[in-house]
Formats: sequence, structure tokens, C-alpha cells
Amino acid sequence: MQADNHSHSGKAHTLSRKLQSNRNPDASVRDILFDRDGTLIEDRNYLSDPNQIVLLSGVTQALHHLAQAGCRLFVVSNQSGVGRGYCSLENVHACNLRLVQLLAAHNVHFTDMLLCPHSPEEGCACRKPQTGMWDLLRRRYGLHAAHTAMIGDKGDDVRFGRAAGLHTVLVLTGKGRDQALKLGLPLPDAGFWSPPPPPPPDWPHAVAVDLAAAVDFLAMASAR
Ligand SMILES: [Zn+2]
Repeated sequence: MQADNHSHSGKAHTLSRKLQSNRNPDASVRDILFDRDGTLIEDRNYLSDPNQIVLLSGVTQALHHLAQAGCRLFVVSNQSGVGRGYCSLENVHACNLRLVQLLAAHNVHFTDMLLCPHSPEEGCACRKPQTGMWDLLRRRYGLHAAHTAMIGDKGDDVRFGRAAGLHTVLVLTGKGRDQALKLGLPLPDAGFWSPPPPPPPDWPHAVAVDLAAAVDFLAMASAR
């Protein structure tokens, strides 16, 4: 664990510098929205047991570096298992609490965690790719699209991020590989791939192998 932390420290320093350098304040990312299942933690269909929460490799370090760089971190999660009757809202909150506790041990804190409990049939305004959760965060915390990024493993995360005008990254963890193939995106073996800007409307600004690589892309985009 110690060795792993050490190996990331150089990258963290570079990221902090890039995010704080203000070389291009118009493009700097200050606030980051994360999908939960398949992006931060292992995707278990309709997760209801807090003991099944497993952080994906490198996530804790990547979030720690972002927090150190002064970014605010948010979770925006579709939890249709509630609306479909597979789990209760209490189950989902218990899972989120477990996630909060795991990360608090590493001094990582989310500014807010939003979830949509509805099934697709309910036609709500908060289920991604609808932008209800973005609208709420924008109003509540004064977020600006130009300074906000969305990272997720599903096409709906990409469509949500693009509809809101955010920097948008698709990670290849969780369901990301299938989703990238469906969108006709290439699959990088390491790091990230980004199309020439602006990408087509249903594409992300980058495809990243995992959350750490997504953060690397955002650092680069912030410095551009
Ligand atoms: Zn909803």
C-alpha cells in the first residue's frame, strides 16, 4: 500500500500543478462528478449489501489527488433498483455510507452524493442521461459547466455530461468496454484516447482505461 502511494505521488504533484496553474483558467476543471457503480466501485447489479462495496483499483489515490488539488467531488448515480423493487432506498444509503467511510479513511470526502431512485418507466427528470442531477448541483453549489467534468462507464453518463456541456470521460472499467464498442470508440490499451475536439455529440471528450487515466486526461485538458 505504501509503495503504491509512493508511485503515485509524482503524478499527484503534476496534477496539482496543472489544475492550479491557471495557465488557461477558461478550461480548468475544479469540480468533478462521478458515476458510482463501475466507475468508483465494482459494478454489482443492483447492489444492496454494503459489504459488497469494493473500490476499483487506483480510485482512492486518484480521488485523494483531486481533493489535494482543491477539486470538489460529487457522485451522481442512477439507482433504478429502488424503483424496480430490487432494493430499498435504505439499502442504497447504507452502501453510500460504506463508500463514504472507506474513502474518509484516506481523507477523501464528497461534497454531495445524488441519486435517482426511479425506474426508467417513471420518466423522471433526474435519471441520467436527463440532466436533473446536474441542474440541482449547479444551483446548489454554483457549478459552471466549463469548469466541471463528468466521469462514468456508461453511454448514459456520456450523454448526461455532453447534454450538460461538461468535460466528459468514459472509463473502460465496469460496463465501459461494451459501451465504448457500442459508441464506435477505440479502446486504448493504457492511459486515454481523445478524439479531435469537438467530439461528435454522443462521444466523450476522452476514453480512459480507468479513473486514474481519466484524471490524467482532465489535468492535460486543464493545462491546454
Ligand atoms: Zn429520477
